[in-house]
This record gives sequence, C-alpha cells and structure tokens, in this order.
Amino acid sequence: MSLKDFEHDMQRCSRCSFCKWLPFENQQHMDFIKGCPSAARYNFHAYAASGKWNMAYSFLNGRIGYSDAFQDAVFKCMMDGCCDVSCKTVQDIEPLQHMFELRKQFVEDGQMPPEHMLTIEGLKKEDNMLQGKKADRGKWAEGMKVKDLTKEKARVAFRAGCRYSFDEELRPVVRSALQILIDAGVDVGIWGRDEVCCGGRAESMGFAGELTKYADHTLEALKAAGVEVLINPCSDCYQCYKVEYDKIGKKPPVEILHITEYLHRLIQDGTVKLTKKVPLTVTYHDPCHLGRLSEPWIHWKGKEIKVMGQMICHEPPKKYRRGARGVYDIPREILRSIPGINLVEMYRTRESAWCCGAAGGVRDAYPDFANWTAAERIKEARAVGAKALVSACGWCRRNFIDAMEDGAPKIEVYDIIELVEKAM
Ligand code: SF4
Ligand code: SF4
Repeated sequence: MSLKDFEHDMQRCSRCSFCKWLPFENQQHMDFIKGCPSAARYNFHAYAASGKWNMAYSFLNGRIGYSDAFQDAVFKCMMDGCCDVSCKTVQDIEPLQHMFELRKQFVEDGQMPPEHMLTIEGLKKEDNMLQGKKADRGKWAEGMKVKDLTKEKARVAFRAGCRYSFDEELRPVVRSALQILIDAGVDVGIWGRDEVCCGGRAESMGFAGELTKYADHTLEALKAAGVEVLINPCSDCYQCYKVEYDKIGKKPPVEILHITEYLHRLIQDGTVKLTKKVPLTVTYHDPCHLGRLSEPWIHWKGKEIKVMGQMICHEPPKKYRRGARGVYDIPREILRSIPGINLVEMYRTRESAWCCGAAGGVRDAYPDFANWTAAERIKEARAVGAKALVSACGWCRRNFIDAMEDGAPKIEVYDIIELVEKAM
C-alpha cells in the first residue's frame, strides 16, 4: 500500500469529527467521552484523524510540504485506533491504516522525530526497542528450568517481548507467567537471549521494513523449534504476530495467543485453580493491542468503482475491521474468577477504551504527552471507585507507573498475571 491508495478515503472523510469522540452509543459520562488523546490534548483539528486526512490530501497534491507543524501532528499520535472505531460508525474508510502510510512516507523522506531514530538505531543494533544489550535479553529467565528453543523443540513457545525482557521492575511478571505454564505441565520453551523484537512498534513509527525483517526471522525461528502455539504476555507482540504479520502476508502457521487466553483455558479445565482470596476493587484497562487492534486482519482484493461520477464503491464489497472482535471478555472472566476481586468498569471500555499513552512511539519522543494520557486514564479508574488499575500489557503498566512518578493521581497498578499468581 501507499499513501496514494488512500486518496479516495481522504476525499470521503466528511470532516464530521466523530473520530475525536467515542461513538454516541458508547458515551456514558460527560467527563469521559473523548476518544482521541491527541485531539484532546492539543485541541486542534490537525491532531485528530480527520486533520491528518486533510493534511495528507494537501501533501499528496503538492499544496503543502514537510514542516515542523505537520510532523508534530503526525507523530503526536498513539496509533491506538480509537478514532478508527468511532469513524467507522459513520464511514467505511480507514483512518488508522492511512496514518501508517503517512508515517511510512515521513520515514522514507527522513522526516521522523530524532528520538525515533535513536530507538530504531538501537533496534537495528540490539534487536530490541529499549536500547538494551542483546546479550542481556534472556536475563529475565535466569535460573528457570525451561526448554531452550534454540536447541530443543517444544509445542509451545513463550516470548517475553522487549518491554518485559529489559524492564527489570516488570521481569517478575513474565517469570510468574512462565512458571505457571511450567507448573501446569505445558511443553514450553523460550528463545532466551536469541529472542528478538516483533517489529510492531517500529512499524507503528513508520519503519515498515523492520516489521518485514522480524517477521521473516520469526517464521524461521518458529519452524526450527517445531512450535505449534506462540504465547505472548505483551499485547503489542501478540497483536503484531496475529494482525500485522498477516497484513503483510507473513502470517505465522501457528496458534497465536495472548497469555490471558492460555491462562483462561488452564483455569477453565481446572489445571490452574484460583482459590486464595484477593480482596480488591479493580478496574480493567483494555490494552489497545489486545482489544480493538487485535481484531483479525481482513484481506480484500478488488477494485474501486466510481458511481454517478463521484461515489466510490468497492467491487467486491470490502469488509471493515471495527474493533469489536478484540480480546475483551477473557481478561474480565479471569478477574471475576479470582475470589475477592470486585471488578468495576470504567466509562471507556472495549473498542472505545482510552489508550494508556505508551504506543506509536509517543513514549519515545513525547513522554509528557504519554504521561498526560496515562494520567487521564488513572483519573477515570479512580472516578469509578477502583483501588487498582489492572492491565494485560507491560507497556501500559510501565506508562501508568511513569505517569504517577510524574505527578498523576495515585492508584495501585497490576498486571493481570500478578493477580492470578496471588490467587493460586
Ligand atoms: S470520523 Fe471519519 S469521516 Fe468523520 S472527520 Fe473523522 S476521519 Fe473524517
Ligand atoms: S490513533 Fe489515537 S491519538 Fe492518533 S488520531 Fe487516532 S485516536 Fe487520536
């Protein structure tokens, strides 16, 4: 795809601004009806999906060129897709996919934020997004008795992902998850220091080549290890393997699961028993990559037809991803099955969840915006009476912690795996 492929969508954007808000049917509380963090924070049309359509259209037709203001609007965006869900309640167009192409174009022309270059240079050198040393990647699993997939075959592969591998505060989460699998008798292995990035976050910054490179690597690694199931505690990795690889025609021939999906099976069949009480009122934050963005990719091949000289239709009709088929119920069912947990819902949930602020390279280049976005979510969690905010992604957890250190209101933050472990 290229930016040009979205030109008709650019023309069809009706400038209705639905993309800035939650769909009407999902609006529950006046204070929490905004959906686009970028438009909410910068309060200017250019920062919403619609503004980016406008600018991209002018850019394509030579009416504007690169500028600091253009770059600012394009990259101060989490690529979380809340706009995409809202827009598709009124239009069949692809705001999020268009933004991927817009960023790709910026990167091809060397117009990315310098902080992104630093991250990507680290990725090219060390195969991770945190600028950690390649040799330290397997440290999170030190001392654990688990198969080494570089030497042995296993039915199930467990991938920690960059965030959990290099963020020392979060490492216990993936150790716990892996230990639960081992204790449950799962034939599981890890790649340890040979694990590499999935490439998904790089793609969201506009570096599409990194996605292809890591997809090829992953396909080979999975084949060599004879893996049938790939389990991810990181929602970003999960979405990347399940959706982004499929999008570029490199879907892995294995079952791709998030750790919550696998744990849910183990809880359902009685292998994992949650018996200890965890008396806590919690709310669940849907990670964008486990929720709306993890809806399976829909391939379409056909042509655009102009009807009555102006309306664009697709032949055959195109089906759209609208975010409703993400993983929403399973994490909630796990939480409800923990004795003592009182689960209360926030006002923006499921496909209309507010982003944690960590995605799309915003954490790398605009940490104040990332922290502001997380603070907004914490306020929402407190507004519904939650004592703890639970997520199922290391990036969300890290961003909430950092936001609190930066002055956001306080709340306890957990990864869902930690609560499962407490209940066992
Ligand atoms: S909701 Fe969609 S059609 Fe409406 S302004 Fe936003 S991008 Fe355009
Ligand atoms: S991806 Fe998120 S931040 Fe970017 S325009 Fe859409 S809702 Fe706003």
